[in-house]
Amino acid sequence: MNIRIGNGYDIHRLAPKRKLILGGIDIPHTLGLLGHSDADALTHAIMDAMLGALSLGDIGLYFPPSDPKWAGADSQKLLEQVNGLIRDRGWEIGNIDSVVIAEQPKLKPHIATMRDRLATTLAIEPDQIGIKATTHEKLGPLGQEEGIAAYAVVLLKKESSD
Ligand code: MG
Repeated sequence: MNIRIGNGYDIHRLAPKRKLILGGIDIPHTLGLLGHSDADALTHAIMDAMLGALSLGDIGLYFPPSDPKWAGADSQKLLEQVNGLIRDRGWEIGNIDSVVIAEQPKLKPHIATMRDRLATTLAIEPDQIGIKATTHEKLGPLGQEEGIAAYAVVLLKKESSD
């Protein structure tokens, strides 16, 4: 069994008149995340961790913000593509663990739904995905609700050919 590990990080600014999409679900809130795509920071962190595990670069390489093609893109579609890159190379996800840093809203009630959504996109089981939510104790820009950030680590596995 071969294994590889990757980590990812993303942050997006909170802004009015935007949807708050995290882990592929629409979370009711007065502000949403600003970005070229749907700005799903958690999904982006997971994608970067998956790419990083195989030294395949980062999401900016595959989905450049300068390309109008990705304007308003559903990050679940992008995640599906990244999963394809991994699977094409014979790798599969062992598990994912992640942390979302958001002062508001409270994410705990949405975590099970996010895990289900990401598991469906990745064609894995929800128990292979950990999502933890924390505040930033009102410290700094994250604590002042200027943005939401996410960290992810991903373990990939592949059966040895020999
Ligand atoms: Mg991003």
